[in-house]
Amino acid sequence: MSEQQVSAKSKGLPVIKISRTIIQFLSFFLVNYAILEFIFKADFSALSDFLRVLPFLHSADSAWTAGAGLLEYLLHAIINGKFPFLFIGLIGAFGLFSGRIFCGWVCPTGFIQDLLSGLSNEDAKISMDTDRSMKKIKNVVLIVLLGLLIPLGYYFNNNANNYADYTAALGMFAINPLAPFSFSEFFFVTFPEIIQSIIDNASVAQLFEEENRFRTILFFGYIIILGISVYYPRFYCKYLCPYAAAIKPISKYSFLRLKRLPTRCPGRKECGICESVCPMQVRILDEGFDGFTGGGECTLCLECMEKCPYDAIKFAKPF
Ligand code: SF4
Ligand code: SF4
Repeated sequence: MSEQQVSAKSKGLPVIKISRTIIQFLSFFLVNYAILEFIFKADFSALSDFLRVLPFLHSADSAWTAGAGLLEYLLHAIINGKFPFLFIGLIGAFGLFSGRIFCGWVCPTGFIQDLLSGLSNEDAKISMDTDRSMKKIKNVVLIVLLGLLIPLGYYFNNNANNYADYTAALGMFAINPLAPFSFSEFFFVTFPEIIQSIIDNASVAQLFEEENRFRTILFFGYIIILGISVYYPRFYCKYLCPYAAAIKPISKYSFLRLKRLPTRCPGRKECGICESVCPMQVRILDEGFDGFTGGGECTLCLECMEKCPYDAIKFAKPF
């Protein structure tokens, strides 16, 4: 049977999806030990010397980040006048070799969104033009963050007076800049804090007090994003995540990528299943045949590969 004659086959057990879910579940506990601290009331601060090279293992209590995540570590270093060459080099190399596999298989906030989107029977799609425009929002978030914080790092090293003035002007933003933009911050810091305060006070009244207003707005904002994620998979990853904005330009050239075999694929009109199941809304059928990364948006979740009835999606050769 020639490749052109390969017919659509029914798919059995979704082995890739099950494997990915297991890895995501395990990563949920391993990647950010804030969870372990929270569940077991353990103190891992003694390990911080060993974990510095793996900043995503830092908890929100760590002195090395003011939050719980990769980008938090990076921004925290910049604020303190350091340029984390090693960290950026490691992330860059990781992105170049494996694209956004972290987003697809490890990131706990991605996992939560995947679980939520599993609640709806059918994924909704945003129109192509709107999707393309909205994917730029995360770039703007990152540019604004860096634009505000790089001068702070400069003043830290060169001008103590300006540093003090600028820090005062930025307020809490100078201490934990990613707090309003980070889903991991919401899950691992804001959300547990708010739930804890509701339990401690047996009331929600404190949510509406003046000093808590910003945090409460964030809380409800993220609850809305969670609700949207049920119908629009990976909504935060696609449109808002500043880490995605940082890794995307490198992931675009990732060696690890998928390709579509033209001899097997009958195209969008006759099939198009890959695009309809892609949580990142990658226009797979508009991408080149020798390999695609969706401009760095592909998270290598392999949904398209697993669901393609013609086995037309494979890993591309790196060189
Ligand atoms: S690559 Fe996409 S359009 Fe082509 S056969 Fe597979 S699922 Fe269908
Ligand atoms: S292109 Fe395929 S592997 Fe990449 S995000 Fe979309 S479904 Fe997942």
